Amino acid sequence: MKSPEFQQSLEKYADVIVKVGLNLREGQRLIVNAGITDYPLVRAITQSAYQAGARVVTVFYNDDEIGHIRLKMSSREALKDVPTWLLQAYLDHAKNGDAFLRISSENPDLLADVDPEAIAIQRKAMGRKFKKVAEYTMRDAINWCVISYPAEAWAKKVFPGVSAKQAQEKLWEAIFQTCRVDQPDPVAAWQAHILDLKKRSAYLNAKRYSALHYQAPGTDLTVGLPRGHQWLAAQSHAENGINFTANLPTEEVFTMPHRDKVNGVVSSSRPLIVYGKTVEDFTLTFEKGRVVNITAKKNEDTLRKLIETDEGGSRIGEVALVPVSSPISQRGHLFFNTLFDENAASHIALGRAYRSTMKGGAKMTEEQFNKRGGNYSLIHSDFMVGSDKMDIDGILADGTREAIMRKGEWAFEA
Ligand code: ZN
Ligand code: ZN
Repeated sequence: MKSPEFQQSLEKYADVIVKVGLNLREGQRLIVNAGITDYPLVRAITQSAYQAGARVVTVFYNDDEIGHIRLKMSSREALKDVPTWLLQAYLDHAKNGDAFLRISSENPDLLADVDPEAIAIQRKAMGRKFKKVAEYTMRDAINWCVISYPAEAWAKKVFPGVSAKQAQEKLWEAIFQTCRVDQPDPVAAWQAHILDLKKRSAYLNAKRYSALHYQAPGTDLTVGLPRGHQWLAAQSHAENGINFTANLPTEEVFTMPHRDKVNGVVSSSRPLIVYGKTVEDFTLTFEKGRVVNITAKKNEDTLRKLIETDEGGSRIGEVALVPVSSPISQRGHLFFNTLFDENAASHIALGRAYRSTMKGGAKMTEEQFNKRGGNYSLIHSDFMVGSDKMDIDGILADGTREAIMRKGEWAFEA
């Protein structure tokens, strides 16, 4: 693991994160959120960030197990306590136009033995407290990015049956491949990939479809798109003037649905992890935008709890298109981490919409955004619906239908 080749890949990965993901500017401060085992990558990122001219890099190391202990031992009342000083640190950075990085490395099974109700209470309290900070990222006021590190427990879940060391090596390889770190010039490879995705989003924006129609076994869903919706991909333009890539890897082209105009039934094509539990083979039936029926082969109650978080939790806030030829889909295994799994198939998110997916959305009040069809919720939970059996049509204002995807692949040239 500690070979010179590995160290070189680690540094290349750090450079992709700093240059493509964050596109960190000289003089910016950076907050990094990481797991305690992620430090080799955090150090490489810190090196790369200061090289790019970072003013201060502040790292918050989280120990998954500490959070687990608290959830098991605290009273429901105490779980609602979110320290204000922590909020202040983030708000101070956000208001100053600084950057945020989150390293996702959590053990997918960590919370399996915790009461979902306790998790829901804590998440809700956290969501309320950090609402203002989430607003900064949801409307792209600043440059932010989420990436991953193959921590041991996560790696073992993805690659069972081999030693922990081998599992970690295999997950590193998967991360390096899907994040294009294995390419001769990873930054250039990303620029080409971003351009390709941007062509797709430009094509869809020019069409101004009024709705999408999804068809697959167990799925017949019509999703209305609001006036002024914007398809986005790979790169976002932040209010602080910086073009950044919020997720590495990323393969999706996405926009927002109209919160009241979703009708029909949709079936999941991959499991969804909610509060540490795996919800399998589920269907959601929508009427006028609201979920009116839920079925699941496994952990239906957990899914129900998620949807019942608040009013907006029973509606959707994102529709994203990903072809089955995406490198993550082609790997053919689950990652048990949304960052990867959402890039393996077309997906839909329960909960809040990104302000940036509506023209002028960032400047609207919550009420205006809502009126235009934007959904608000404390949750944003992506679930996979796409497969090689899915067809998606775009419906124009006059009712004309055009093929967007056939058998899970793009059906248009961009
Ligand atoms: Zn998405
Ligand atoms: Zn999403």
